[in-house]
Amino acid sequence: MTFITRFAPSPTGPLHLGHAYSALLAHDMAMEQGGTFLLRIDDLDQSRSRCSWEAQIYEDLHWLGLSWPTPVRKQSACQADYDEALDVLWRKGLLYQCSCSRRDIKEAQSAPQEGGLQFGPDGLIYPGTCRPQNRPSGQRPKNVTLRLDVAKALAGHDLRPHFTPRAGEHLDVSSFVETGPHANTAIGQYEFTSEFILNQIGDFVVSRQNMGASYHLAVVVDDQEQAVTHVIRGADLLEATIIQLLIGWLLDDELYQYWSQPVYHHHRLIRDDQGKRLAKRDDARAIAKYRAEGASPADIRQLVGLG
Ligand code: GLU
Repeated sequence: MTFITRFAPSPTGPLHLGHAYSALLAHDMAMEQGGTFLLRIDDLDQSRSRCSWEAQIYEDLHWLGLSWPTPVRKQSACQADYDEALDVLWRKGLLYQCSCSRRDIKEAQSAPQEGGLQFGPDGLIYPGTCRPQNRPSGQRPKNVTLRLDVAKALAGHDLRPHFTPRAGEHLDVSSFVETGPHANTAIGQYEFTSEFILNQIGDFVVSRQNMGASYHLAVVVDDQEQAVTHVIRGADLLEATIIQLLIGWLLDDELYQYWSQPVYHHHRLIRDDQGKRLAKRDDARAIAKYRAEGASPADIRQLVGLG
């Protein structure tokens, strides 16, 4: 079986131990399978991406002993691919323009609701303020925020393209193959329902003003363009995977006739001494810092539990 995986950091800060774990694990798994390890630069957000961080990524990963085919795919050079995908979703009548600010969403959400603000994997769950009654017509507007009408997408789409229901099973459910520690079925899959998508995710953003595509849309397109068969990344992206599968399925018939659902492996997260997930600003755990202090790549492997 072909095994193609990728490590896709954003050049917005230093790589830390969590990134080292993710990259090493993906690389090791690819090598074990006689597969390919790709590096991708997720520099879609040009306001936060820096060439110096990108250079540091190459340096740190080479130092760790990793190699990858070149040229490396960079999201900033792939807008045409994202536009093509957005046009497909627009033509299907699944996108609408949204002019709500974060504050508008907060205010609409917190009306008389109990339990505080509702967050999903795409941030605050959108209350639907700008969702139109009628299908938007004309050309897809550029340089605006576009959201996907999730209810409409689910209504017109079989949620189970890769799912064979067993006798008596609730049909409105789907799944992906999860080889990490987070499978929620006995057969190594992660299952979710359309109710989850509707209520816990809601209408998510697919493109923004000043950013031609959202992270979720770009990742689906990139993984497809790069023929990625195995997505190996942290458990913090487990629910984001549901959004990305939905996008993949919606693109499947027209743009990507052969879109094939990757296998996923959501690995454990590397935490600090207080048990908090490492973030980009945790410079103390930066690979460059360990290097400067004389650590070896083998020490890094040891530190992340891959020794
Ligand atoms: N670029 C994303 C990040 O830095 C990860 C992308 C992915 O694995 O899908 O967190």
